[in-house]
Amino acid sequence: MLYDYKCPQCGKQTEAINKIADRHTNAPECHGKMQLFISRAPYAYMPMEIRYVCPVTRTGITNKRQRLNVMAKYDLVDANDIVTDKSIDRQLKRKEELDNIVASNRPPEELTKQVNKWAESSL
Ligand SMILES: [Zn+2]
Repeated sequence: MLYDYKCPQCGKQTEAINKIADRHTNAPECHGKMQLFISRAPYAYMPMEIRYVCPVTRTGITNKRQRLNVMAKYDLVDANDIVTDKSIDRQLKRKEELDNIVASNRPPEELTKQVNKWAESSL
């Protein structure tokens, strides 16, 4: 990995390639060992962590908190959170199926099975 280092005494900056495990112990020398510092956006260091690029900001979204912050800042809504007639119908149908199972006094395994089926179908 490519790391940025800075001398704590004179402020000189340099880049060096190091293994993750050696990034501190194998730091370049200036007035003693230089210290790691972050000069770029963190995701530049971890390209594999980018899950997707936000279509609004064009930045890589790497985690849930960042995603929530961007959504709040730009007043965005998750498509999965939009309630449609279809999703209401589906929930009503599920409630009916559940009520039927409860009313029929079938064993609890039936309920578990049904709930698992719903969980799979909504993936
Ligand atoms: Zn120095």
